[in-house]
Amino acid sequence: MLRQTLSGSRPAIVERERLTSLINSMADGVIATDDKVNILLYNGAALNILDSNSMIGGKSLSSILQLKDKNDRPVDVQKLVLGAKTPIVSREMRIHYGDSSTINLYISIAPVKFGFGHMGNAGYVIVLRDITREKSLEEERDEFISVVSHELRTPITIAEGNISNAKLMAQQGTDLTKIEEALEHAHNQVEFLAGLINDLATLSRAERGKLTVDIETINVHDLVNELAENYLPEVRGKGLELKIFLDPTLQAINSSKLYVREILQNFITNSIKYTDHGSITISAQRREGGVLFEVSDTGIGISKQDQGKIFEKFFRSEDYRTKKTSGTGLGLYVTKKLLSLLHAQMSFESELNKGTTFKVFIPSLKLM
Ligand code: ADP
Repeated sequence: MLRQTLSGSRPAIVERERLTSLINSMADGVIATDDKVNILLYNGAALNILDSNSMIGGKSLSSILQLKDKNDRPVDVQKLVLGAKTPIVSREMRIHYGDSSTINLYISIAPVKFGFGHMGNAGYVIVLRDITREKSLEEERDEFISVVSHELRTPITIAEGNISNAKLMAQQGTDLTKIEEALEHAHNQVEFLAGLINDLATLSRAERGKLTVDIETINVHDLVNELAENYLPEVRGKGLELKIFLDPTLQAINSSKLYVREILQNFITNSIKYTDHGSITISAQRREGGVLFEVSDTGIGISKQDQGKIFEKFFRSEDYRTKKTSGTGLGLYVTKKLLSLLHAQMSFESELNKGTTFKVFIPSLKLM
């Protein structure tokens, strides 16, 4: 509700009432002050942003608007407003509330002459807008672009280097095994890129709520055996053992083969990536209404501190052994989205330097 004292002739009152309802219907907070930066009028949205329900008319703006700059230093509001000889706009200010929450603020300050040039005093009109959500989307987007471009650059550089080498060696008639080796390195990097692009595509569809679930009958034995076959060379290449346990009483389940495979692949690739010694175990057991899959490893493990964060977008552990490997921190975030689409339940146990086990119960859904 716009607060101000109305006085004057009838047409002037009508005019002001129009103005009042106009300002009150604005989503942005509006505050008008006199030339000493004392509040003359304000609307309800301004009170919301200031988190106040008291009458603030007549008070000095700096007593009720405590701003912080982007480095969290207090801003002298009086000085800021008085310094606005022409309209100024900032998107870098913040307000900290008593409950320790913070909002990002758009603030515009315009010096004005009230009363359209006659009689009125000079003052200022301040517009406030909560842009916390926009800001966090902007930050997320910037971070996303920087992480993805970094992740793309490394494999492309390695692949490019190896292909150039292979070309040179072919021209010089070098031993074929050396050429093959270089091409193998390049091939691995291209495969990594394909996986990354796949994750990004799934992520983008998931974020737009565009993931569709095609339910089909899945033969769990075949699925696990197929995965084991695909990953065996990589597991052996790292000197690890691959163990498979399949419940003989397993029955087919109805779910999305595409997503179940993607979920298991994410767990398996992680377990290979974060294990240097020992084994990877994949198991599938029959459970009431579905299947319980387990992927466990004897790898580096996840610290208690990191355990609450591994499903966050872009999260990668600070552990030096994680840093040695390449990754985007998107795999488990995407996995969690897929799990919820399939109404699946998941849990994990992990101990540093001992290993990690992810358990997923995939329910059998109705065929559509
Ligand atoms: P990425 O593997 O690309 O970094 P993920 O989202 O798949 O991203 O995993 C997030 C983080 O969780 C990893 O960076 C790693 O720190 C941790 N993590 C996931 N799986 C394992 C595992 N099996 N063993 C140890 N750490 C793991």
